[in-house]
Amino acid sequence: MSSSPSALRPLPRPGVLAIEAYVPGKSAAPGVAKIHKLSSNETPLGPSPRAVEALRAESATLALYPDGSAARLREAIGARYGLDPARIVCGAGSDELLTLLALAFVGPGDEGIFCEHGFLVYRIAILTAGGTPVVAPETDLTANVDAILAAVTPRTRIVYLANPNNPTGTYLPFDEVRRLHAGLPGNVLLVLDGAYAEYVRANDYSAGLELALEAGNVVMTRTFSKIHGLAAQRIGWMVGPEGVVDALNRIRGPFNLSAGAIAAGAAAIADEAHIAAAVAHNDEWLVWLTREVDALGLTVTPSVGNFLLVHFSDTPGRSAAEADAHLTKAGVIVRRVTAYGLPDALRVTVGSAESNRAFVAALTDFLGGDRA
Ligand SMILES: *Cc1c(COP(=O)(O)O)cnc(C)c1O
Repeated sequence: MSSSPSALRPLPRPGVLAIEAYVPGKSAAPGVAKIHKLSSNETPLGPSPRAVEALRAESATLALYPDGSAARLREAIGARYGLDPARIVCGAGSDELLTLLALAFVGPGDEGIFCEHGFLVYRIAILTAGGTPVVAPETDLTANVDAILAAVTPRTRIVYLANPNNPTGTYLPFDEVRRLHAGLPGNVLLVLDGAYAEYVRANDYSAGLELALEAGNVVMTRTFSKIHGLAAQRIGWMVGPEGVVDALNRIRGPFNLSAGAIAAGAAAIADEAHIAAAVAHNDEWLVWLTREVDALGLTVTPSVGNFLLVHFSDTPGRSAAEADAHLTKAGVIVRRVTAYGLPDALRVTVGSAESNRAFVAALTDFLGGDRA
């Protein structure tokens, strides 16, 4: 005799159903032959040829588990930045590390702070851990240290700060980061997300790395997805205090990086010429794009990253949504940022010379102007 179906079902624990899943940038424009993908802040230069070669070499040993400690990659990172490899944890993208940090340090009833237009992964990470997201208002699309400090309560366990921030491209000088750290209680973990650190000219990131080594409550996360051109391989790393490193090593997957990721990352971070070329390309084209868009009469938020935020009006025919549709038809794929509280803006990645020109031409066409 068959038993009657039970009305009971497994239910996700509180918080999970409050999560709005992360929606990645579009990558297709149906019916368009030539695509210019400027929607996910990938580098137009691609990865170092040495990274590609290292990845290819790994195909000889695919049956073997990778080194679970990713020692080769941690040593290469340590050598590049003068860091003790024992203070480094690698992740399947820095997204994994951002989530693991919340899982290790935030629980039900705890709060995690991030900024108004901050990276959406922070909210997801805090909710995943069962915590409560707390949003700190920004000033002029820039993180506001006083607002973050005002949001701190006895329940605060973690503060995420992307510097520079995505999608705004704005940047907090390091003395402001130091002031933020000085104002936080010692039991609050400050996560400095340096996904775009390599692009920043006012480079005080060594100070950020030092703070992550010296302070007991600061970590810095970095990624191979942006300037290193290895987004498909999913490689991130973090440097921080021993206690944080220890906690993450307990909860991470024992083989959270593939052998290919370990090999490609180690080769990429040693290729300083390739990194310098990517920085030089960005320096040139970020300025060019900003100037061209500005000349079209649109407002651009000054960016220090490899992308820029372009503001549209809410006038019918001139809106961000309509601009996005027009650009997509021309094969230029950019990012809508409504989910970041910026419905009237589009985020555009600095691409190849050809893609940047295609973007400006399509935008000029959208605005009904003639390209001089
Ligand atoms: C792209 C990005 C990352 C990197 O994510 P990965 O998981 O390493 O690919 C992290 N933080 C911010 C703010 C980003 O824009």
